[in-house]
Amino acid sequence: MSKPIRILSDHLVNQIAAGEVVERPASVVKELIENSLDAGCSRLEIDVEQGGIKRLRVRDDGGGIPREQLALALARHATSKLAELADLEVVGTLGFRGEALPSIASVSRLTLTSRQHADAQDVQDASDAAWEVAVALDGHVDGPRPAAHPVGTSVEVRDLFFNIPARRKFLRTEKTEFEHVEQVVRRLALARPDVAVELRHNGRVIHQLAAADGQPEAVWARLDRLLGAGFAEQSLELDASAVALHLHGWVRRPAFARSQPDQQFLYVNGRLIRDRLISHAIRQAFSDVLHHTRHPSYVLFLELPLHLVDVNVHPAKHEVRFRESRQVHDFIQNAIQRRLAQGVLGQVGQNNQ
Ligand code: ADP
Ligand code: MG
Repeated sequence: MSKPIRILSDHLVNQIAAGEVVERPASVVKELIENSLDAGCSRLEIDVEQGGIKRLRVRDDGGGIPREQLALALARHATSKLAELADLEVVGTLGFRGEALPSIASVSRLTLTSRQHADAQDVQDASDAAWEVAVALDGHVDGPRPAAHPVGTSVEVRDLFFNIPARRKFLRTEKTEFEHVEQVVRRLALARPDVAVELRHNGRVIHQLAAADGQPEAVWARLDRLLGAGFAEQSLELDASAVALHLHGWVRRPAFARSQPDQQFLYVNGRLIRDRLISHAIRQAFSDVLHHTRHPSYVLFLELPLHLVDVNVHPAKHEVRFRESRQVHDFIQNAIQRRLAQGVLGQVGQNNQ
């Protein structure tokens, strides 16, 4: 006899959804940093213990969450970033699915602490203006209770997958997990030089990046810090536009190509994505100047009107769909090809012609 059909509990639904967005500590860090950036932060502190398996915390100085919405932030399909279907056509934030926090909370011990900007809150007594909620084992939310916290938000995640041993077994060593965390931080820090970033592992400062003040030198310094000294000097800066498309960023001169494809960063409207079509366009652009065993290095930002790109392709949001994919492909290929052709004539170190 077949078993009866039943509706799953919210907690179980969250745990199932977590399978798609929470693979390892690094995916938690990615979601938390994206939330902080969406909250308009200018500073990010990422504190990780034992590769993030034991504990990780992301703290920002963004807008914060009002007390009465703290529990809601942990509810499934609860988001401040979308209200109706039409909004999905023009997503300008990194998040929009309202899934990350409840998913993470269902597979870890999560605490959310936040304090709103003074002018955003109607609390008279500033001393109790920070509040905290925690998720109990059964998925219920404890709090809010008063907490100490500067303006902004912290999310602390302990004991990832403590309740899903099968998942926990797939985690690698502390060192490997931390490398993944660092890679996530690197990707986001490259995209947002205007945000100060500090990354700590087991109490040690791994990266301390000041916010770039708008000077190109400050941006180059961040590139060098994250991609190795010399990146900026060995690269050609690129800035190209065609109709609605805009591409800017850096491609490393072919002479400095790498044996690994480990420095390929492509952002679409600020979101790091993997895209076969664009990878193809870039490879084509380099094909005349690069031996086929070498890999180009680049940090490129493609900007285009929000309605020309669909970001709702996968829960982890690593992929997008372009409305005019051929046009995007050819634009990128041409822009890079042209820049490389100019660059060959120029001198190494002439970065910004
Ligand atoms: P999404 O980012 O898709 O909206 P999340 O589950 O990641 O979904 O977050 C739920 C909501 O909680 C967000 O829409 C936002 O309103 C709020 N939130 C989460 N993190 C922060 C943060 N660091 N600062 C301010 N608000 C936050
Ligand atoms: Mg989010």
